[in-house]
Amino acid sequence: MKRAVIVLFLFVAFDLSALVVRAQNSPSPFPSSTPKLEVPAAAVNAHDPGAATKAWLDTVPADKRARSDAYFEGGYWILLWNFLLSAAISIFLLQSRVSARLRDFAEQITRFKWLQVWFYAVPFVLISAILSFPLAIYEDFVREHQYGMATQTFGPWFGEQLITLIVALIFLPIVLVALYWVFRIAPKSWWLWGTAVIAVFGMLGSFFFPVYIAPLFNKYKALTDPTIRDPILAMARANEIPVDQVYEFDASRQTKRISANVAGFLGTTRIALNDNLLKRCTLPEIRQVMAHEMGHYVLNHGAKLTIYSSLFFFVGFLLTRAFFDKILQRWGTRWGVRDIADPAGLPLLSLIISVYFLLLTPIQNSSVRITEREADAFGINTSREPDGFAAVSLKLGEYRKLNPGKWEEIIFFDHPSGRARIRMAMDWKAAHLPCGNTPAGQ
Ligand SMILES: [Zn+2]
Repeated sequence: MKRAVIVLFLFVAFDLSALVVRAQNSPSPFPSSTPKLEVPAAAVNAHDPGAATKAWLDTVPADKRARSDAYFEGGYWILLWNFLLSAAISIFLLQSRVSARLRDFAEQITRFKWLQVWFYAVPFVLISAILSFPLAIYEDFVREHQYGMATQTFGPWFGEQLITLIVALIFLPIVLVALYWVFRIAPKSWWLWGTAVIAVFGMLGSFFFPVYIAPLFNKYKALTDPTIRDPILAMARANEIPVDQVYEFDASRQTKRISANVAGFLGTTRIALNDNLLKRCTLPEIRQVMAHEMGHYVLNHGAKLTIYSSLFFFVGFLLTRAFFDKILQRWGTRWGVRDIADPAGLPLLSLIISVYFLLLTPIQNSSVRITEREADAFGINTSREPDGFAAVSLKLGEYRKLNPGKWEEIIFFDHPSGRARIRMAMDWKAAHLPCGNTPAGQ
């Protein structure tokens, strides 16, 4: 199921969780009924951005820091377990000839090639989901409860897993039918057209996700509180973003995490923030988070990340072309797999692609993290809330290690670390940029 979701939603709604917070000495132009944040003494003027950053980080008690470090570092291992499990499933399906038998079964049912792919794909998705389920229970349910993130009991959680499976069972076979169609009609250049298929379905997925998929899991409604909505819409107007609505969604039914996101493509693009964020953050924090999300919109990050993902798949398919036939020469007879256009070879295709994406982890994470940093820069310049930025970065640090090593951040972080974000905020604050008709330093 993981694999299904990865392929289907690779390009979709990248989580643009965010940033920030509030200041006693840089008053927001908007009134807020929420409590003001305590700004550490060394961060009040941020004359020394390094010391100010450290002062913010030091406000987090050691036990909380240890907990979020352990949570995030556990994720590194989860990455490995997911890869090993998915590789084991692929090898099992090939070695046991379950894959070849599924293909034979599909060929008996119909003589239409495209329909054979569909009849292969449906049980393939189902079997993969069942075999992956124990790890899904640990990763998404047990572990999330261990660390106090999850708010769901097993029943509703399981219900959502079933919905995800149904979505995968509907859409993934369609993607595979299209993919194997180009594998059949372009035996020499399938890797090129395969990339095109993935890119097109990625864009379609992004387009339909906010309208048809996201509402299956959460209720989205227009934010109506004018004290929150109007300051957000003011920033949108200031940046020529054509929206008259901001959405909130009830993430608290699943998790305690605060987050916001931009989802959609062309006409369906919308900016949404979750109810945890609304409940726990001050207006300056909320403004910074939403300014960050607007940054994704203004800087065309949806299109940019779609292009990156397509390039990654392009290289992945090139590598597949290099290895697929060689592996088949040795094992093809034993596995009952004929060639790239044979759906029985899907587990091998999946195995090669997952090895590649595991090795690509640092590059993939860095491509997203650098994009997130651009949105951070847009956000701080739009919200002008360095203390809000710092405070929200600490809140996001509840589930993302605050102060990682340099290489650790490059390899594993798909968003800047809390330390990097707070440093950006304090550097911004220390620069005392002039602000139009307002004297510099305010
Ligand atoms: Zn973001």
